Amino acid sequence: GIAHDFNNILTVIKSYGQMLQKKGMKSEDETRFIEQILASTHKATALTRGLLAFSRKQTIEPRPVCLNPLIADMKDMLERIIDESIELIVDTAEEELVVIADKVQIEHVLINLVTNAKDAMPEGGRLVISTSAVELTGSEEGRVAGRYAVLTISDTGTGMDRQTKERIFDPFFTTKDIGKGTGLGLSLVYGIINQHKGYIDVRSEPGRGTAFDILLPLSSERPCELTKEGMRATKGGTETILLAEDDSDVRRLLSDVLTGAGYRVIAAGDGDEAVKRFIDNKNHISFLLLDVKMPKKNGKSVYEEISKMATGIKVLFMSGYASEEPEGRAETSHEPILPNEEMELLYKPLVPDEILERIRKILDT
Ligand code: ADP
Ligand code: MG
Repeated sequence: GIAHDFNNILTVIKSYGQMLQKKGMKSEDETRFIEQILASTHKATALTRGLLAFSRKQTIEPRPVCLNPLIADMKDMLERIIDESIELIVDTAEEELVVIADKVQIEHVLINLVTNAKDAMPEGGRLVISTSAVELTGSEEGRVAGRYAVLTISDTGTGMDRQTKERIFDPFFTTKDIGKGTGLGLSLVYGIINQHKGYIDVRSEPGRGTAFDILLPLSSERPCELTKEGMRATKGGTETILLAEDDSDVRRLLSDVLTGAGYRVIAAGDGDEAVKRFIDNKNHISFLLLDVKMPKKNGKSVYEEISKMATGIKVLFMSGYASEEPEGRAETSHEPILPNEEMELLYKPLVPDEILERIRKILDT
């Protein structure tokens, strides 16, 4: 529950930050301050996810992702995490590396590994992020044969002795001072890579630095997801959207994002109000943006009621939890949070560009 509230707060900070970032006429200082705010919210997001990973089943949204553009897009943000005394070199493979992955989770992996590398180089040094491809033949114990993308993060920092190296993936294992480390970073990274059917190798020697190799199964089938350049062209629309969200800050933010992109917005603060507002504006509303968890009536019930009056109305759900289901419940007894599996779900913290992109895509299909 706390992580849920926290996600809502982060959504608001992050989104207004991104909206400021897009506005013209900024001084160099202002640009830098905004980037710093965004880099810190990214770190807070990664931490929240880390906490969620322990209390709930982590659900991933795998899609084809191009590793190289993903890293290129993140470079500015990563520069903000490290100090100026650290040189960041990004050296991506020529080959297009498509992996089936949850983009946000892979971003969290990078943020965690880069943060650790920074902590290991208090006096500065060099941080290299590189990608390549490798073929596993099946002779490696416990590893599935096939072609893998390799994401390597190496630093010239303190390195680790053998005893430390053996424990780094344990939850809450940290060698850092109180307030500096949580010991959650690498256990989160491990969980994410595991879910992606990938592997992690660590090479490290005291005094000589550390390198993490992340292996992710390569996919040959589909093209790459949109990169930041593509996202920038995200189009809005003029349709009327019914927005139901109980957190008033998030509701105001979403209203701002949607009206900023040209949409008309009718907002509701709970499930009952959403249905009521739909009935009052039946002829105008062509899209529903619904929070999954709301007082009085949840998102699913709201949709089911409305779709009786407007068959086939388009919808996008939003959720603050990595998974709405408490751990340990049998798969079969799950009360699904969405009316059916084809419906789309966005996880908070939300990103304005992503919301707009998803809404446009659903409206246009
Ligand atoms: P935290 O960073 O909060 O301590 P992590 O799970 O991210 O937790 O890392 C666990 C421990 O692994 C760190 O405290 C540190 O001792 C060690 N470690 C991780 N990355 C590096 C690195 N790049 N260089 C040296 N030690 C590292
Ligand atoms: Mg860490």
